[in-house]
Amino acid sequence: MEGLVAQLEEAKNIIAELQVAPFDASKVPGILTPKRPLKPKPTRDKTRIDESEGGSITMRGLDEKKQAALAIKDAEAKAIQGRKAVTAAKKAAVCEERAALQVAFELCSESCRCGAEICPMAKKQCCPHCKEIKSGDCRKQACRTAAAPLMLTLNEPPAV
Ligand SMILES: [Zn+2]
Ligand SMILES: [Zn+2]
Repeated sequence: MEGLVAQLEEAKNIIAELQVAPFDASKVPGILTPKRPLKPKPTRDKTRIDESEGGSITMRGLDEKKQAALAIKDAEAKAIQGRKAVTAAKKAAVCEERAALQVAFELCSESCRCGAEICPMAKKQCCPHCKEIKSGDCRKQACRTAAAPLMLTLNEPPAV
């Protein structure tokens, strides 16, 4: 047993010595004489394959590229569709609101029939020109021009 311990200690010493000793490449035969030319093998520029996607037998990843392009196109189309849906929804909401306003206005235009303490239609009026329900006079330029008395528009310079 003691002999084994001594052997182990010796081995440890040798290992430690070897680890401390600097590596001298010139002492190892053949290590400094290159077997192969050190010049790296010229690698072909692969960008042209990507660009042209033709004329080469190494057209790898073509399908992936196509799929990626299609996915991007698909995502773009979906984004456009989403925006269109939002616009349509907004338009529909505006239309609905206008229709509801129209109904409410017609209900209370002669005399209030909605039962509210302060009728929300009391101060509303229907623009005789564009038929939209407005609180106050319609401020659209076309409606203002149409509502102006004829003599006034003839005598006065047009409003800028
Ligand atoms: Zn009312
Ligand atoms: Zn109007």
